[in-house]
Amino acid sequence: MRDRVRDVPDFPSPGVLFRDLTPLLADPRAFDACIEALAAPWSAAGIDVVCGIEARGFIFGAALARRLEAGFVPLRKPGKLPPPVVEVEYALEYGADRLQAAAGALQGHRRVLLVDDVLATGGTLAAACRLVERLGAGIAGAAVVIEIESLAGRTRWPCDTPLHAVLRY
Ligand code: IMP
Repeated sequence: MRDRVRDVPDFPSPGVLFRDLTPLLADPRAFDACIEALAAPWSAAGIDVVCGIEARGFIFGAALARRLEAGFVPLRKPGKLPPPVVEVEYALEYGADRLQAAAGALQGHRRVLLVDDVLATGGTLAAACRLVERLGAGIAGAAVVIEIESLAGRTRWPCDTPLHAVLRY
């Protein structure tokens, strides 16, 4: 699986090493192995909905939701979902961004699993966690394909629930 992750130096800006998961997605065996590995810690966790973070979190999150026989709710960038929405703002290196979800999308859900492709500084996943809490749902944990350990994103995970990564760099 690891050999299907492409390292791209200086993307999207100089000094950044981008981990590109598109070769993994294009390889049916690697993609399948990845979804199995993402699912393994959660198969008996009673997850009732998976929340995937735009955009690559949708790809892994939707496949994982089907594997766990759970529903799927997208957490989206601003301006994509029709109203009413609930949103949170979070800081980026330069400026801020927002994540939105449909109001009421998680009503009655107690066991939400957050999914994204990469955990870097942890700001995105922390914002997703706040959004799900604002929607009134319970967070069972988070699953990412790649954790970039040197950026210590795990230390920003604000929930008292597990965060599992398939590959660590
Ligand atoms: P964070 O908020 O710094 O943890 O960044 C995580 C977000 O940025 C995720 O939604 C990822 O999709 C994206 N991201 C950060 N680094 C990479 C990378 O090396 N490859 C692919 N996506 C990345």
